[in-house]
Amino acid sequence: MAPTLLRFDCSACDFQHEYLLAGQLRQYCSDDGAQHWSLRDQPGWCADCQALVAMECLPTAEYQAVLVKQLLCLRLDLANLLAAHKVQRRWWQWRARPIPGLVQLERQIETQETELAACRSLREALSARDSGPRCLTCGSVRVAPVPLGSVEAAPRELGIEHPGCGGEMSLSHSTAVQGSSPPVVHYDLQGRRRLRP
Ligand SMILES: [Zn+2]
Ligand SMILES: [Zn+2]
Repeated sequence: MAPTLLRFDCSACDFQHEYLLAGQLRQYCSDDGAQHWSLRDQPGWCADCQALVAMECLPTAEYQAVLVKQLLCLRLDLANLLAAHKVQRRWWQWRARPIPGLVQLERQIETQETELAACRSLREALSARDSGPRCLTCGSVRVAPVPLGSVEAAPRELGIEHPGCGGEMSLSHSTAVQGSSPPVVHYDLQGRRRLRP
């Protein structure tokens, strides 16, 4: 996903904040530093930073179930595609032409399988975790997700209050950002920032 710049405004004060979605690569590391998992983040309001921050998006059972369902759908698509071409083709045509979309579908399945395996592995690694999601800037657990829904260019009321002000927060702008990838930032399995990988 290309990084996207989101702009948040408050209807009552001059608060304005930009948030770079998918702008930073973050990874969990095992305590010995040997294993890494990618860390999903989401925008959240941190009560300690008093700012919109990137917060952890912990892999839940529901998230894993969504990945499983997506994989099943892709496999079903593959079965249907193969069945459709089996009906249409005669035996001498089998080697003639590649089935359109087959390679792409197989690649999607492979990616999905990798993502599901990574999710399972991370959930296991995080099973001893005793805290909720953390602010990825200061490590505080006093952080709440900001619901984005779909990201659109048009201004949109988010239905959340600017804490301590009472104004209505809106997501007013978004642009895709081009540029080189930033360095990876590492966190331990408790969601605390590590200085070394
Ligand atoms: Zn405000
Ligand atoms: Zn914070």
